[in-house]
Amino acid sequence: MPLLERNVTLYALLPEDLRPELYGRINIFLDEKEFFGCAGLEITDEIRITIAGNACLLLLQRDKECFPGFTSILVYPNTYVSKEIHYHGLLVTEKESVRAGESWHRGPIVLSWADVMRGTKNSNEGHNVVLHEFAHKLDEANDSMDGLPVLRDISHYAEWAKVLSKEYESLLIRVEKGKNSVIDEYGAVSPAEFFAVATESFFEKPRQMQKKLPDLYVQLKRFYNLDPASWR
Ligand SMILES: [Zn+2]
Repeated sequence: MPLLERNVTLYALLPEDLRPELYGRINIFLDEKEFFGCAGLEITDEIRITIAGNACLLLLQRDKECFPGFTSILVYPNTYVSKEIHYHGLLVTEKESVRAGESWHRGPIVLSWADVMRGTKNSNEGHNVVLHEFAHKLDEANDSMDGLPVLRDISHYAEWAKVLSKEYESLLIRVEKGKNSVIDEYGAVSPAEFFAVATESFFEKPRQMQKKLPDLYVQLKRFYNLDPASWR
């Protein structure tokens, strides 16, 4: 697939035997999900395949379901402004924030195409908005988005909880000391954001994660059933 080669940098690193699996997942994804262009953006095959190609990396060795519970993917040409409405008793406040992407609970994924391209063209920065937002979708498959997705085996839960909370706490400490690397400090916002940014780094900086945060690497390797450190 020339579009994957051109736009999905991680695809070039993918072992040969995983490629047919990825094509199969992409086909199901394109069949099941609907894309909508926003703010004048026209949806093209390039947009559909680039987003599907990144998102489906998360599914490669997992169960056959293709991000159930939602179908719409909204794509803006660039970062967009989103309104947050907060209710405090009778008082309603609105806050505008600039976003590169978001995932609505049981609702659509929203992405900025410019940010999708920035993330997908560079596979070792640890920033990939598609991996990030679709990791949130895996997280909410059990209803709550809390950094605890559905694990492949019931026996994995205890260790996941132990390691992920330990690693989250140590990120908070590193961020406070200004000594953070490997995982983006945005992960300090909540356990859910921690899981999403850890997913980005797992695929894009696997060697660094394996070296500096080996326990976290082991958990994500078991969750995704993939070993991206061995792809490079
Ligand atoms: Zn997020």
